[in-house]
Amino acid sequence: MTKHLTIIDHPLVQHKLTLMRRKDTPSSTFRKLLRETSMLLAYEITRDLPIVDVNVETPLCQTPSPILDGKKLALISILRAGNGLLDGILEVIPAARVGFVGMYRDEETLEPVEYYCKVPAVLDKRLVVTVDPMLATGNSSVAAIDRLKNEGARELRLLCLLAAPEGVARMKEAHPDVPIFTASLDEKLNECGYIVPGLGDAGDRIFGTQV
Ligand code: URA
Repeated sequence: MTKHLTIIDHPLVQHKLTLMRRKDTPSSTFRKLLRETSMLLAYEITRDLPIVDVNVETPLCQTPSPILDGKKLALISILRAGNGLLDGILEVIPAARVGFVGMYRDEETLEPVEYYCKVPAVLDKRLVVTVDPMLATGNSSVAAIDRLKNEGARELRLLCLLAAPEGVARMKEAHPDVPIFTASLDEKLNECGYIVPGLGDAGDRIFGTQV
C-alpha cells in the first residue's frame, strides 16, 4: 500500500530543486532543471510497478530477465505548468499515453476553472499519473482528479514538485485513495495562494512569461 504522501528526498532532486527555487535562475535553466528532475521523480513514482521475468537470449546465453508487467501508464498534464514535468517523464516512459486537463486559477476566488480536457481512452485499465508542479490550495488537483475519475480512472497518483500542507490536506480529504509524490512539503500558502518559500509561479518560471 503506497503512503498518502511521499517526499522524494534524493540528493540530486533536492539539489536541482534548490537551483530552481533561486529567483535569478533564468527560464532556460529552470526548464532544463525541471526536465532533469522529472526524470528522477519518474524513477521514484514507478518504484513499485510490478515486473515479470521473460526469457531473453543475450549474446552469451538464455536468461530470465524482468520486464514491466502491470497496468500501462497514462500521464495527465495539468496545463500549463504540468507540461514542464511531462517531457522528462516521457523521456523515461516513452510508451505512456498522454492526456491534458486545462485548468486556470481564478485569481480572486482561487477556484479552478476547466477550459480543456482530452485524455486517453480506457483510463480504467491504466495507472494514471497526474502531473502538476505546484500543489498549492489543492483546488485544481482535486478538480482535475474528479474529472479523471469521471472519465473512468480508478488507480491514480499525483506527482508535484512542491506541495503546501493546505493542498495535501485538501487532497487527503477529497481523494484519500490518490497517493501524492513531491520533492518538498513547503511551509505554507501566502494570502495570494502562492507556496512559501516555493519558487514563484511555475508556469511563468518554465515559459518565461513573468513581467
Ligand atoms: N501555482 C504556482 O505556480 N506557484 C505557487 O506558488 C502556487 C500555485
